Amino acid sequence: MTIHHHPPEELLTAFAAGLLDLGQHVAIATHLVGCARCRDAVRAMEHVGGAVLAGLLPTAMSGGALASVEAGLDRLVAATTSPPRRAAGLADVPGLPQFVREYPAGPWRWIAPKVHLRPIQLPEASSTRVFLLKSRSGTKMIEHTHTGFEMSCVLSGSFVHAGGHFGPGDFDLGEGDDDHEIMIDSQDDCICLIAMQGDLKLNGMIGRLLQPLIRM
Ligand SMILES: [Zn+2]
Repeated sequence: MTIHHHPPEELLTAFAAGLLDLGQHVAIATHLVGCARCRDAVRAMEHVGGAVLAGLLPTAMSGGALASVEAGLDRLVAATTSPPRRAAGLADVPGLPQFVREYPAGPWRWIAPKVHLRPIQLPEASSTRVFLLKSRSGTKMIEHTHTGFEMSCVLSGSFVHAGGHFGPGDFDLGEGDDDHEIMIDSQDDCICLIAMQGDLKLNGMIGRLLQPLIRM
């Protein structure tokens, strides 16, 4: 698996500092499981962060700061080393990291022609929703924008977005007013783990007609 698209450095830094909410954390951890380059970057940031904290400790240090960093480290370790227990629900999803397979998930449900969504239930409340999105080969996702951000981790299959090609292990970040025109170009279904905040707004006439039917 060759990975071409990685999360921006700010997101990796926020992950290392334990600043992401759980839904965002799950998306970045999903990428890290398959990407040695980003894992190394996060470890280096944690090392630097730890050294900075150690220097600050004798003076002013907020009570929660160190605990927050430690929680981030714990969650990274949990994400990458959890024992191989299989939950029935997500065991059949190719490319999904083991730690995500352990979360309860709803059934696949239709959200648009050739597109199905499967919600993932996180163990704690999070303002970021996490779900799987499965799109059939040849699907052109309706052009849309977001009121928040959308992180996509490709698990299987591939798509083209903004001139870039995204395959298994790749990470795509959509924010705010970016127009999303996505074309599934793999022969097989393309399945992504998505972490999304805010709502999705479909553009164009077909989008406006479909909008009331789409419940993400
Ligand atoms: Zn990476």
